[in-house]
Amino acid sequence: MNPDTNDIESEYEALLSFMYLSPVGIIRSDLAGLVDMMNPLAAQLLMPRVKDGGIENIFDSLASVAPELRNLVASFEGERGAVCENHRVFVTPAKDGAVVLACSIIKVGANLLMTVLTDISRQVAAERSARQTESWLAGIHTSVNDFAYFTLDAEGCIESWNPSVERLTGFVESNVVGHTLSRFYARDEIALHRSPEHIALTRDEGWHVEELWCETVTGRRYWGQVLIAVLREDDGDISGYSVVLRDVTERKVTSDNLARLLTTDHLTGVSSRAHFFEIAESEVVRAERHGRALSVVMLDADYFKRINDTAGHQAGDEVLKRIAGEAMGMVRTSDTVARLGGEEFILMLPSTTASEAIAVAERLRVAVERARIDTAVGQLKATVSLGVASLSEANPTLQSLLAAADRALYDAKRAGRNCVRVEVAEQTDTVCSMCPDGNAVQNVTAARRRGNR
Ligand code: GH3
Ligand code: MG
Ligand code: MG
Repeated sequence: MNPDTNDIESEYEALLSFMYLSPVGIIRSDLAGLVDMMNPLAAQLLMPRVKDGGIENIFDSLASVAPELRNLVASFEGERGAVCENHRVFVTPAKDGAVVLACSIIKVGANLLMTVLTDISRQVAAERSARQTESWLAGIHTSVNDFAYFTLDAEGCIESWNPSVERLTGFVESNVVGHTLSRFYARDEIALHRSPEHIALTRDEGWHVEELWCETVTGRRYWGQVLIAVLREDDGDISGYSVVLRDVTERKVTSDNLARLLTTDHLTGVSSRAHFFEIAESEVVRAERHGRALSVVMLDADYFKRINDTAGHQAGDEVLKRIAGEAMGMVRTSDTVARLGGEEFILMLPSTTASEAIAVAERLRVAVERARIDTAVGQLKATVSLGVASLSEANPTLQSLLAAADRALYDAKRAGRNCVRVEVAEQTDTVCSMCPDGNAVQNVTAARRRGNR
């Protein structure tokens, strides 16, 4: 059914009022920049750029601060599409309280552009002060191993050298003068190719901080912090840059250790319970969004109290470590093994159907059963019980998925331990909707109904 003319007109009206009220500046123009429509906010954002009243051409209006816009449009070859997205236009320099616009230009027709302008001055100021605070804090808190100070010319090439450069990097004067900052960056670091970008950011904002892997002349890697600041002539032109390069490896190592402490279980090295819940929720959302399978295997050591009582707590710990190790050795990198607490673990298996998860669980059961675990009181044997559950219409949330795995695990314990159980919805169609190979699941269900393992 075709919409009649009234419908089209009312849609157009709606579009106009949307443009009018929009919290961003919207400008419609031809490819040459000739404006035929703009909302009040766009006029307000552009007005300070306009010398004699009218805003006839958007590129003319922004020519003194963003001459590149016209070229960007001219060199855009597609019939339609984004010419630029959130391109930063520094309307007034930092020293005058930086007005910064984010400019997105979309080519919507053969000779039609829509330009969206957003005032991001506050955001840029916040980013700036956050970075400033961060680098000051870093300066105060870290034990700085060493630093090098040197200058770059206006093109970003190393100009001055002093002994501090050699002390930190091992490079002598002839190694570095005339080269860019990349000389110091580690060879495998992507930032190696981005030193012009670092200079451009410094030019736009007055200064820039970057942290990345660097390498000394002998190839020793260190985590470097590069602070670059603009040097100006009296007339305000940029004459070059001053750079402080520091080795802040110790802080990097400390924060990496901290991250590891927060996400791993201290005894077994697998993910901690807290970390598991942090990632599990998003795994469920991702699986649902992409219509992919997701399974969990919950496992609990059998008669573990007895192991502790007879062999001692320390030997018990060795058994837990071995169970965790067997589980880690069985999963892919995209899977997660976590210790939920005590002698209970969980495996989160993205893109894994129930039948595939049952196979993993069964292999793990056998691996633990066969393990001879070395402890201070001799070799021990252990077994585990496992419960499997998969995301399905019956278990659509993380909570219901874990509850189902828990019930399956309880089933396994009741069935005599050292076995795998799976919970499946009673209706076959529910099973099939999530598991393409639902047959294997049904076999297990059938086995369960017969009371077999
Ligand atoms: P079931 O087969 O029914 O699971 O029996 P169980 O003995 O394993 O179950 P129960 O929950 O009664 O006992 C768990 C034991 O695990 C009790 C607790 O002392 C022990 N445990 C919990 N955390 C640790 C740990 O970090 N190290 C050691 N060695 N033991 C632990
Ligand atoms: Mg137990
Ligand atoms: Mg338990």
